[in-house]
Amino acid sequence: MSTTAGLVIRCKAAVAWEAEKPLAIEEVEVAPPQKMEVRVKILFTCLCHSDVYFWEAKGQTPLFPRILGHEAAGIVESVGEGVTELQPGDHVLPVFMGECGECAHCKSEESNLCEVLRVNTDRGGMLHDGKTRFSINGKPIYHFIGTSTFSEYTVVHVGCLAKINPAAPLDKVCILSCGFCTGFGAAVNVAKPKKGQTVAIFGLGTVGLAAAEGARISGASRIIGVDVVSSKFETAKKFGVTDFVNPKDHDKPVQQVIAEMTNGGVDRSIECSGSLEAMISAFECVHDGWGVAVLVGFPSKDDVFRTHPLNFLHERTLKGTFFGNFKPRTDLPGVVEKYMNKELELEKFITHEVVLKDINKAFEYMLKGESLRCVIRLDA
Ligand SMILES: [Zn+2]
Ligand SMILES: [Zn+2]
Repeated sequence: MSTTAGLVIRCKAAVAWEAEKPLAIEEVEVAPPQKMEVRVKILFTCLCHSDVYFWEAKGQTPLFPRILGHEAAGIVESVGEGVTELQPGDHVLPVFMGECGECAHCKSEESNLCEVLRVNTDRGGMLHDGKTRFSINGKPIYHFIGTSTFSEYTVVHVGCLAKINPAAPLDKVCILSCGFCTGFGAAVNVAKPKKGQTVAIFGLGTVGLAAAEGARISGASRIIGVDVVSSKFETAKKFGVTDFVNPKDHDKPVQQVIAEMTNGGVDRSIECSGSLEAMISAFECVHDGWGVAVLVGFPSKDDVFRTHPLNFLHERTLKGTFFGNFKPRTDLPGVVEKYMNKELELEKFITHEVVLKDINKAFEYMLKGESLRCVIRLDA
């Protein structure tokens, strides 16, 4: 038992008091974990686009004050009633979508969309009692997608924690808990390119480059990066991207440009930008007969996907995925092992590092498009 088990912990956290205002470093109270909950000491967390999206709070229910953050790594401090699979000292990755292990989705080999712990962006409290475990002078501070990792301590449902090899460096594997696995899994679990095939990747941010990493590991011989920002192409080369297309440089649809480059279309395509136009291009640029397109990027609320049904009749396949089809608790330990065996290169994704008090700099880097992943250190 740790000396803090069962007690309220006072620690530092970055609190979002209102939309688009810089986060404030506050001393917060973190209540002990309740039934099926775990209190985790977060050592490293990263800024992901979804944090920025909910901080801006455009087009969804604003929920403030809130502690954002979902891509992270830490160590179990104490566990609540009913938790048997984790104990203090275990190294864990919190994941915004959980795995209860009992529901129809968790029991299906084909799904990772746990019914119980599926992401719920409107929920500000814990599943068990709807209440928050964070407060400042007794005033509740809301949780974010079940993780809230911009805090030295957080409380998470046990089903949202992947227990990993304690030898893994947490300042590197923290990036596996969202963005990397989303793109990497889209490639290796869903698109599944065969050796020697050509893969197109739309959107060359962290998720797209992780998809490129997956394509590279799968043995793709040619990886075509598509992005409207040409400066991203230089970086993308380090991630195995061999060819570049900027749709703005052409006066015909990008799917036509790609078809001409590839003798009829790519074998696989992965859309990571969330732009509706790119989603349609990603589907229409795959080769007839066998091409598979995978949608990863998150659409806008009113988007409607339009394509001619003949594109399907001509034996093209369109798929979509969430978190790269990884079941967090079952599959993440294996992804960590891949990194430990030097099959994955994570370092190249980490472009910046700041300490918690400078967390707003991480937002600046991302908003300016300067960073892939900025690791925020809470271990100092
Ligand atoms: Zn489940
Ligand atoms: Zn994320």
